Amino acid sequence: MEATILTVGDELLIGQVVDTNAAWLGQRLDALGIAVVRGLTVGDDAGAIGAALEMALAASDLVLVTGGIGPTDDDRTVDAVARFFDAPLAVDPEILERLAARWQRRGRAMPANNRRIARVPEGFEVLPNPVGSAPGLWHRAERDGRARLVAVLPGVPAEMKAIFDGEVAPRLERRPGRAARVHRTLRTAGVPESELAERLGDFTDLLTEGVGLASLPSVGGVRLRLSASGPDAGAAARRLDALEARIRERAGEHVYGVGDDPLEGAVGRLLRRH
Ligand code: ATP
Repeated sequence: MEATILTVGDELLIGQVVDTNAAWLGQRLDALGIAVVRGLTVGDDAGAIGAALEMALAASDLVLVTGGIGPTDDDRTVDAVARFFDAPLAVDPEILERLAARWQRRGRAMPANNRRIARVPEGFEVLPNPVGSAPGLWHRAERDGRARLVAVLPGVPAEMKAIFDGEVAPRLERRPGRAARVHRTLRTAGVPESELAERLGDFTDLLTEGVGLASLPSVGGVRLRLSASGPDAGAAARRLDALEARIRERAGEHVYGVGDDPLEGAVGRLLRRH
């Protein structure tokens, strides 16, 4: 399964808010064995959201949208999604009741604009929000003869995470033909990226379907991320062993650790050993 993450908000485009939703969702989807093939960010503009949905659905089976589902006029996501799927919007009385009760518990009258949050496009499932007002939405659509899944989530990170973990992840875990994807990171030091690549040489015999190698340079050294898919995490991890052995053989002492192991830890081990 391939996914696009679409984050909505002018504040993201001007850098006022860092798009942590996309990073968090990317990690979660990856852990579920879903390949994130595209990330898009657009402003609070119905036309831009519609165009992004078109692009996202052309590229992937699953689209996760966050942001712009609140009560104010600049929250345009639900209108854009409804227009895109040609699904008329109707106020859901149950959502409205929950919102009214929430305001009552705070001892305040519910502002009239909260009706906006209670609007649901026809054919969409409501995903309850356990920590905030605006619920998420879930939709299964047929496009070019293939099933597409769309989840619309709040922009507020705590609400987005709660609905994803409580409602979206369980639906994705149940999908048929689910595969696992695992990563292993080897940390290297003392060798520039291009020289390391030359030492490692040709890997094509080991980079079979679903196995990948990425080189991530930074000031402290180059991290090599090995990735593999398989029917389960154990099988996927076993596919990485041959790749890791080849890298260790060719990069030699430049490989000092795995995962989050810091260079200081490797130096400490050497000092103790000597
Ligand atoms: P609300 O009901 O509060 O209006 P909403 O679903 O409409 O929620 P937004 O109005 O788009 O969401 O964003 C609410 C807040 O959530 C923003 O002020 C911002 O701080 C945060 N936020 C939105 N999108 C993101 C994102 N992609 N990454 C991190 N934070 C975000």
